[in-house]
Amino acid sequence: MDNKPFAKIIIDISHEAVDRPFTYIIPDALKGLVDVGTRVEVPFGRGNNLKKGVVVELSDRSELPVDRLKEISSVSDKDISFTDSRLKLAAWIKRNYGSTMSAALKTVLPVKRKIEPSLKKTIVRLADIEVIDRLIDESIRKKSVARLRLLYALKEEPEIPKSLVDSKLHVSAATINKLIEGRIIEIKEERLLRNRVHTRNIDSTRPVLSDEQARIADCVRKDMDEGIHETYLIHGITGSGKTEVYMRIIEDVLSRGKQAIMLIPEIALTYQTLMRFYRRFGDGVSVMNSTLSQGEKYDLYEQASKGLVDVVIGPRSALFTPMPDIGVIIIDEEHESSYKSETMPRFHARETAIEIAREHGASVVLGSATPSIDSYYKAMNGEYKLFTLSKRLTGNTLPQVTAVDLREELKSGNRSIFSRKLQELMADRLDNNQQIMLFLNRRGLAGFVSCRECGFVVKCPHCDVSLSLHMNGKMVCHYCGYTEDKPARCPSCNSKYIAQFKAGTEGVEQEVHKIFPKARTLRMDADTTTEKDSYEKILGKFLDHEADVLIGTQMIVKGHDFKDVTLVGVLAADMSLFQSDYRAAEKTFQLLTQAAGRAGRGDIPGEVIIQTYKPDHYAVVHAANQDYEGFYNEESSYRELMDYPPAAHMLSVLVTSPDEEGGQRLTEHLVSLAKENFESSVFGPAKAAIGKIKDIYRFTFYIKDPDYGKLVEIKDRIEGVLSERTSFTETVFFDFDPMNVF
Ligand code: ADP
Ligand code: ZN
Ligand code: ZN
Repeated sequence: MDNKPFAKIIIDISHEAVDRPFTYIIPDALKGLVDVGTRVEVPFGRGNNLKKGVVVELSDRSELPVDRLKEISSVSDKDISFTDSRLKLAAWIKRNYGSTMSAALKTVLPVKRKIEPSLKKTIVRLADIEVIDRLIDESIRKKSVARLRLLYALKEEPEIPKSLVDSKLHVSAATINKLIEGRIIEIKEERLLRNRVHTRNIDSTRPVLSDEQARIADCVRKDMDEGIHETYLIHGITGSGKTEVYMRIIEDVLSRGKQAIMLIPEIALTYQTLMRFYRRFGDGVSVMNSTLSQGEKYDLYEQASKGLVDVVIGPRSALFTPMPDIGVIIIDEEHESSYKSETMPRFHARETAIEIAREHGASVVLGSATPSIDSYYKAMNGEYKLFTLSKRLTGNTLPQVTAVDLREELKSGNRSIFSRKLQELMADRLDNNQQIMLFLNRRGLAGFVSCRECGFVVKCPHCDVSLSLHMNGKMVCHYCGYTEDKPARCPSCNSKYIAQFKAGTEGVEQEVHKIFPKARTLRMDADTTTEKDSYEKILGKFLDHEADVLIGTQMIVKGHDFKDVTLVGVLAADMSLFQSDYRAAEKTFQLLTQAAGRAGRGDIPGEVIIQTYKPDHYAVVHAANQDYEGFYNEESSYRELMDYPPAAHMLSVLVTSPDEEGGQRLTEHLVSLAKENFESSVFGPAKAAIGKIKDIYRFTFYIKDPDYGKLVEIKDRIEGVLSERTSFTETVFFDFDPMNVF
């Protein structure tokens, strides 16, 4: 360790005014204990209150006279210290996405403190398989569906983490206790190696890879042999064998003595998928998810950094698991917007993964049935290597998709929210005891106005996004501030049925009951899923056939497989097309494709009805034909025409303030600053999509430029201006290549 007398310290306060290193003296008593990355406590500010901080540099010199410096008070040994590479990563995130260093440091190290161990519980099968089989028969007779799920799982696997049974199999404590009383299972509690599963029989059989699969695995292997580390994009529909390819690549990486990180959106992290990884990689797999306790998270970090974890699986934050020698980072469902952080720093897991991989000499594998336009664009330009898996290996066929024109329904006198075709198919499914999912696309309902007769929506002449209706009756563009009055009649067909669209999941449920009084329904939306596990509970009930129809927002189209769902109805498919957002078509295409994918997962083929006012819109047409390339071609030319990402880069800036005038003044000042460098590609200022939240006013502007680095520079200049302010009533947020508009 260096014997330098001074330490530069980032104080643990997320505010621009203190977002720089402060120099402290390392007192003799702490010599040898303070290093780069060490967490310390220091007296700070006039009152010398003790604050926590992180040492980012040791130094021989101080810019200030030594008699003005303070001493470090103590080293916090209960806190985890930062490694050099973590500090670098935090600096990279701060620079590329804009945030304080303190916030960036928190991002790269989600576990803060060392925590006393908690117990890890595992359900262990005691009874023989014959006994389990007998109980399975009995449960089928008694229709004890939850018990049946657990028994089936136990038949396959002698030991299952209890957390997995609770969170993914929806089995109640009462059911588990009965089985314990009957000596069918027991619960094992362990202190060490928490968050690890002991799978006794790691499955050594492997399917023979298809030619398409083998090509990918071979290519990645050869590249690794030659020390080439690329980003690979696998485009393949669900069931085309992507996960099998991921597992082969991971095996290859492990055989080189390295580790793997696998990101999956939490919602798609199903029991089946997790068990597949446990079976293949046994004890080496660790799962990270939101149900882990602080102690379990800490253990995972501790063990991962010692190299005891081979594969970590989890959502976005699993990316920051400290592994000594990462060989590959895999991102499944790479198009998911949950990979982008919604709080500062608004980093994207995909780009950050590529940066981590670069630092570690690792490869990145992206996979999706509907790749993001961003990634596919990069693949087309040769930045990523593209592979396609074109066949479903599971055998069941793709569902039949039909788009129904809602304008025609209205013309022929049908004022119901269900088209005649959808009603007909619903009646059929209810008669045959099959299940139905009704998906209400509510995205972008924030204030947009449409014509019920022709589907017309008023758009901004400068930005090609829809205008939002404000309380004062004016329609506003949230990108550039353009404003016009709400028309009394439809500018396109002169109909007077032009209004704000209103219909929630509750309305849909009432309509189902009106037409089909006997149908049992479940509803899933933001209102019914306020409790922590209500999402899993509702899905569990639907899985158990406690309802015939599941009605929901976009939550219901992801993750789980329902074998008995043979009809999916998408109501108001085009709603998300009209939001003020350049990614609107992409989001719509992905939602429709995912919704369609919910039908016919079992043996019976499925049908999908897409109800729309815009049957000719390319997002709807290509989704109905399940034609990704067709969609990509049209969407990428639109982005190129408009200089939207990925054709160019975009920085959007949000200024919030309790003082309307002050907020506006600062925004205007920042806009003029930006215009010095960018002139024509600065748009705004405008009121944000939601102009005021809890009495805090929100203003926004955005800048487009082909060069990301130039946008980073202007962000740095803005940060410079902000740190020199004397008043701090305004807060400024940055979002690079935004997923949603402010
Ligand atoms: P995806 O991840 O694209 O949805 P999976 O890897 O889960 O696809 O594969 C779908 C199904 O096909 C799984 O049941 C998997 O076990 C099986 N499968 C995958 N690859 C092969 C193969 N080469 N031969 C036979 N079955 C396979
Ligand atoms: Zn505009
Ligand atoms: Zn009209």
